[in-house]
Amino acid sequence: MIIQRPKGTQDLLPKDSNKRQHIEEKLRKIASLYNYKEIRTPTFEKTELFKRSIGEETDVVSKEMYSFKNDEFTLKPEMTAPVIRAYIENSIQNESPFQKLYYISNMYRHERPQAGRYREFSQFGVEAIGSSDYLVDAELISLGSKMLGEFGIENIIFKINTIGSTEERARFLDDLKKYLSEYKNKLSPDSQKRLEFNPLRILDTKIDYEIEILKKSPVLFDYLNPDTKSHFENVLNALHKLEINFEIDYRLVRGFDYYTSTTFEVLSNDLGAQNAIFGGGRYDNLIEQLGGKPTPAIGFACGLERLNLILEKNNYVFPELCNVACYFVTMGDDAKIFSQKLMKNLRKKAIICDTDFLNRSVKAQMKEANKINARYVIVIGENEMKEKKFKVKNMQDSTEILTGLDDFIENAEMILKEK
Ligand code: AMP
Repeated sequence: MIIQRPKGTQDLLPKDSNKRQHIEEKLRKIASLYNYKEIRTPTFEKTELFKRSIGEETDVVSKEMYSFKNDEFTLKPEMTAPVIRAYIENSIQNESPFQKLYYISNMYRHERPQAGRYREFSQFGVEAIGSSDYLVDAELISLGSKMLGEFGIENIIFKINTIGSTEERARFLDDLKKYLSEYKNKLSPDSQKRLEFNPLRILDTKIDYEIEILKKSPVLFDYLNPDTKSHFENVLNALHKLEINFEIDYRLVRGFDYYTSTTFEVLSNDLGAQNAIFGGGRYDNLIEQLGGKPTPAIGFACGLERLNLILEKNNYVFPELCNVACYFVTMGDDAKIFSQKLMKNLRKKAIICDTDFLNRSVKAQMKEANKINARYVIVIGENEMKEKKFKVKNMQDSTEILTGLDDFIENAEMILKEK
C-alpha cells in the first residue's frame, strides 16, 4: 500500500514552488523596507511556553497542540511566544531597546482540515518589541496594508478593535457572564463551555442567534481605561492619515490570551469559511509574563497558504519557473563528460544548463529539450570534441550558429542571450 501524507498537510510540488518562492521573496522585501530583521526559532518548544502565553483555555492549547515526549515539547502552533522566548533568553534588548523582527515559518495545529485550514501551515509574521507608541501600531498595520497592495489584493475587510488588559477586561467579563447566563440554555454547547472558561471568545461566534443575543450585551470598549481608549483613537487617526481603510468592530477578539489593547484582523472575500488572511495585535504584558522586563509589543501573522489561494483566485501572474538556457544533447560517454566540463564553465557564469542522464537517443534528448523549453541546444559528439567547435541551436527560431569552444566559454552570456 502507498503511504500517504498525514491529513491536513500539503506537498509543495516543483511545478508550484515558484509561487511560494515568489510570495516569500516579496514578503522578505516588504519586511526589510520597514527595517524588520529575520528571526528563526526551533520547530518545537517546551510545552509550558505555549500554555503560559497562549493560555490553557484557548482552543489551540486545550485541543490542537502536537505535544510529545510526555508532553514536555510541542511543535510550535504560533510564533509570537517562541519569538518572545528567544528575545528574553538572548537578551536581544541589549542590542537595542526597540526591535523589529519578522519570520517565515511552519506552524502546527491539530485542527479539522478544510479549504484554507491545515494542520501544518506557514506564516509570515512581524513583531515590534519595546515601544508602546501608537505609531508602532500604525506602521505595523501599514506594513500589512502594503503587503496586500503589493500582491494586488483588494477585496478585503480590515477590522480593528481594542480589548484592554486582563485587569481592564475583568469587570467586563463579569458583566458579560451575568448577561449571557440568562441565555445559557439558548447558547451552543461550545459557547456554554466558553461561558465558564473563556467567555471573551463567545464574542467571536459565527452563529446567527448568538450574534443576535450579543447585540444587547455589555460592550468591552465601555470598560476600558482612558489611556487605552486614547491610544486606540491615536492609532485610528494615524491610519486615516496613512490612508488605510478599516472598520471598527467592538466584538473583534482574538484566539490567544496574550492580546491587549489594539487588535485587528483582515478578512478576504475571496476565501471560503476560513477567510482570515492576517491578524494580530498588541501583547503588552506577555514579555513580563514570560519572565522578561515589562516590555510593550505588537505583531501580526499572515497565512501563506491563504495568501496563495487568494492570488490564484485573482489570476495573479507569478514569475515563471526558471527555464534551462542551454541543454546539452550528447552522443557517447566522452561527450557526456565533455559536456559536464562545459556546463561547469556556464554555471560559473550563472547560466542554467542541463543534460540527459537516462542514456536517451539523440531524438529523445531533443524532445526533452523541447519539453522543458530549453532556449538553446548544443549537440556534442565525436566531431565536436575533436574540432572543438559546435553548433548552438536557438530553439525558438531554429537558427544555428557555429562557435569554437574557447569563444563559446568566453562569450556564453552573449551567445545564449535571453531573447
Ligand atoms: P493566528 O495565528 O490564529 O492569529 O492566525 C494568523 C493567520 O494564520 C490567519 O489569519 C491565517 O491566515 C493563518 N492560519 C491560522 N491557522 C491556520 C490553519 N490552520 N491553516 C492555514 N492557515 C492558518
